[in-house]
Amino acid sequence: MLNPIALAVPFFFVLMGVELLWARRRGVRVYRFTDAVTDLSCGIASQVILIFWAATQLAIYAWVYQHARLVNLSPSWGAPWLPWVVAFVGVDFLYYWWHRLSHEVNVLWAAHVVHHQSEDYNLAVALRQAVLTSWTSLPFYLPLALLGVPTLVFAVIHALSTLYQFWIHTQLVGKVRGPVDWVLNLPSHHRVHHAINTQYLDKNYGATLVVWDRLFGTYEEEIEAPVYGITKPLASFDPMWAQIHYWLEMGAMMRAAQRPIDKLRVWFASPAWKPEGYVVDTPPIADRTKYDRPITRKLAVYVGLQYTGVIAATFALLQWHHALPRTVVAIGVLAVLGALIAIGALLERRTWAVRAELGRIALGGLAVSLLLSSGACRRDRRPVSVHTLDGESTILPKRQSSVLTTPKTRTSMQTIDVDGKTRRYLLVEPSAFVPAKKYPVVLVMHGDGGEASGFHQGYSFERASGDDAILAYPDGLGFTWDLETLSDNRDVKLAEAIFDELAKRFPVDRSRLFATGYSSGGFLANVIACQRNGLLRAIASNAGGAPYKQAQTWPNGYAKCPGQAPTAMLALHGEDDYGVTLSSGRFSAEYWAYVNGCKTDEMETTGYDLCRVYRGCPAGKAVGFCPVPGLGHWVWDHAAEATWSFFQTQSSAVTP
Ligand SMILES: [Zn+2]
Repeated sequence: MLNPIALAVPFFFVLMGVELLWARRRGVRVYRFTDAVTDLSCGIASQVILIFWAATQLAIYAWVYQHARLVNLSPSWGAPWLPWVVAFVGVDFLYYWWHRLSHEVNVLWAAHVVHHQSEDYNLAVALRQAVLTSWTSLPFYLPLALLGVPTLVFAVIHALSTLYQFWIHTQLVGKVRGPVDWVLNLPSHHRVHHAINTQYLDKNYGATLVVWDRLFGTYEEEIEAPVYGITKPLASFDPMWAQIHYWLEMGAMMRAAQRPIDKLRVWFASPAWKPEGYVVDTPPIADRTKYDRPITRKLAVYVGLQYTGVIAATFALLQWHHALPRTVVAIGVLAVLGALIAIGALLERRTWAVRAELGRIALGGLAVSLLLSSGACRRDRRPVSVHTLDGESTILPKRQSSVLTTPKTRTSMQTIDVDGKTRRYLLVEPSAFVPAKKYPVVLVMHGDGGEASGFHQGYSFERASGDDAILAYPDGLGFTWDLETLSDNRDVKLAEAIFDELAKRFPVDRSRLFATGYSSGGFLANVIACQRNGLLRAIASNAGGAPYKQAQTWPNGYAKCPGQAPTAMLALHGEDDYGVTLSSGRFSAEYWAYVNGCKTDEMETTGYDLCRVYRGCPAGKAVGFCPVPGLGHWVWDHAAEATWSFFQTQSSAVTP
């Protein structure tokens, strides 16, 4: 799924630059280099670690929504905006309570404290985030799943709420008067929240709206100039220390506590409470000076240059991690975290800073060399000439009627045992089978974070295939597919098991088995064709890619599936897809064109303006590519229609 926070990264930097220049013109200093670098390090750490967690967190939400929702906010009521309104009000309200408890309960504060450590207040502070807060906030949001807010709606609204809160972290926007100030959370309100002046402590918890604070008695007006930070200063520019210091402090409090009840209380008490005899050094506000570690110009330039590389690597990881081999992602994330720790150590003049710097550079080098050897970046740069076809394409003809059928089909959820695990799939069967007719089967696979019935709602393949085919929408385990296991792959076995099961129950034409899918489901279609030679008559991927990562390679360097047999293939891909890039879809078409023995430098037009097919492919082994202008990481409107058209010509073609 697309990560809106990652997409916003360039805007964050532009706005921080604007803030810096604006402050300079007004003659105020709102940024300190070392402090801002530490803010960014905390934010980058939380984002790159989310690469591993986000799908699980979303899957937990989706599971609750699927199995335990009490209300159906479905658009069939005629109010498609309803889930969005419920999500907006709900996210904002629940955020208020998560945030309030994050300041009132130690175990939640231990995570959230990271966001408050900076003694400056600027847009970079907005990015200073704790690694663990995505976990502490998740339970607070689950009521929305019970209330029937769909996973995607929740994810979008939650991301928008996070993005909104970016701009309120500035000192340059003064107090606003009037109705906007009563309703919206504004910079003035949030400055109070970040301040440690006595009257400002534990105030103004809102995200987008300030009304909850006014309603629940936690609102405070900004009058006195705020002093920013936490009551016991962090006094460090080490991002790792920033993330863990309060956990260690809680450990120390537990050891200091005499009574067993106090040891337990440490976890749930307010951060203001301390066990008897435990003394904390909290300097009075008037005596405080901001923690600083002056650095030489040379070191600042070095850190600045290294940091540019770290930001570029982070952006690439957040944007393209779906499309990269997982080992590259894992080592890349370790290299980024290593760089953040090493840069923190340089700023703090730790004795081990140089060793850490060398270690993380080695890790970064390893990630880059693995990336280059994985083939994920390889592109066939040879020019391809395109011939304009006279008359109708025999490979990808345009559907005669532009009106799609209202299918006469039956839909039901089925279970099947594969390797001792009960798996599920949504079955779409014709409501009546024509006697003596044999039916093709199409597997239609969802993307990461999705599941069968939700994907079926968004992509109803039977609108194209009508009652001429049996469809199966399998459910991935943990809302994802295994794209890595090269033999004995559980999801390849699931595909085979579904085909076998359906062949037992229905008049199935085993020479016409197809697979298609979206995103990681598109990758899986490629993986099945790669691992089971001759099983599938044709495949189609939407916003997908592969095959990659095999023991053997073809002479041109492409990964070679063991004993690879040619398979007809259609790749459909949005030109504006930043989740899985267009080059990934193009590569999968080039791969099969090469494997099938097509002329890889000659294509021809088809019945669909934007689709091209390679020339010279053997009969029934055609390969096509449809780059769709203006489409992001989703399925093209005409995908089902074009795919079904392609599947039909390929299965009626005679294979020599
Ligand atoms: Zn806070």
